[in-house]
Amino acid sequence: LRETDPVVENQITVCVRKRPLNEKEHHKKEIDVMSVPTKNQLIVHEPRQKVDLTKYLENQLFRFDYVFDESCTNDIVYKFTAKPLVKTIFEGGMATCFAYGQTGSGKTHTMGGEFRGKQQNFKNGIYGLVAIDVFNYINHPKYTKEDYMVSASFFEIYGKLVFDLLAKKKRLRVLEDGKQQVQVVGLTERIVAKVDDVIDLIQKGSLERTSGITSANSNSSRSHAVFQIIIRKNGARNITGKFSLIDLAGNERGADTFNSDRQTRLEGADINKSLLALKECIRALGKKGSHCPFRGSKLTQVLRDSFIGEKSRTCMIALISPGVASVDHSLNTLRYADRVKEL
Ligand code: ADP
Ligand code: MG
Repeated sequence: LRETDPVVENQITVCVRKRPLNEKEHHKKEIDVMSVPTKNQLIVHEPRQKVDLTKYLENQLFRFDYVFDESCTNDIVYKFTAKPLVKTIFEGGMATCFAYGQTGSGKTHTMGGEFRGKQQNFKNGIYGLVAIDVFNYINHPKYTKEDYMVSASFFEIYGKLVFDLLAKKKRLRVLEDGKQQVQVVGLTERIVAKVDDVIDLIQKGSLERTSGITSANSNSSRSHAVFQIIIRKNGARNITGKFSLIDLAGNERGADTFNSDRQTRLEGADINKSLLALKECIRALGKKGSHCPFRGSKLTQVLRDSFIGEKSRTCMIALISPGVASVDHSLNTLRYADRVKEL
């Protein structure tokens, strides 16, 4: 990828990031079945068998706005996905960035920050990098002479329930008024004066998300995390813009229909429903006059204002595991990402 800053003309950007094989996969001698021949192409080499048992590879080519291979860092991914959307929130639009993919594919690594063991560097995730650029924008006279107030919220959607990650997972209600304005009642919105204040909130909320009585990992993989940065012109009540960054629930649950555990099945159905509604809402953003089924899920309901307005922009980062054992999930992810963009 070249070191020039990208320009976005599209309302919707769809990208794919392939992570490297991890230690466990190396240990199992898994093979990497994904290749990235150019910066916007991905080939899946799916091992197949004919009836006479001769083996062959079925190669499927996908095209996206950008494809990031395993050598790309969060900084590079950020530069081509969320970064170009920062100015949107100063120009009267809403900006949104989603991380989509199966559990273990790299959503939290991309959004929250790179892991070093169990420690996460919250400064190099998309949440933190957006915060840094929002303050760069505000503090640079070249971009703006206005005074802005910045604040942030962080919450989690688990099925139909919403929890405040900045208030010890307090349960919140979502209300819609007669004008279809959606409000998360009582959601904590912290005013932040500098980047470090935002990083503190990201850290606090991220740790809250993975803590709890139930097994941490499984729980956070079944919920959507929504981190929002909100700006207002100083003294104004109305918001000028909002950047929503979403670490989505693992998309593998839908395929889990054979799971005998009723609770898991219901959760899977709920996640599926919200991901389908999300796809339709993003598609509606790109097409004038089409319907956004935002009431189809809590996720799309709380993000309703992000799916309207000609100036709003969305970007989706689809994460894939490269191993052959994940190929079915990866193909599901790639087809979903493909559909988001397809007209
Ligand atoms: P998810 O949130 O999608 O379930 P994680 O972000 O937690 O997945 O990633 C799973 C593991 O893979 C973590 O240990 C993470 O550090 C590692 N990982 C993910 N993406 C990358 C990457 N691009 N490079 C190196 N390690 C990665
Ligand atoms: Mg995660």
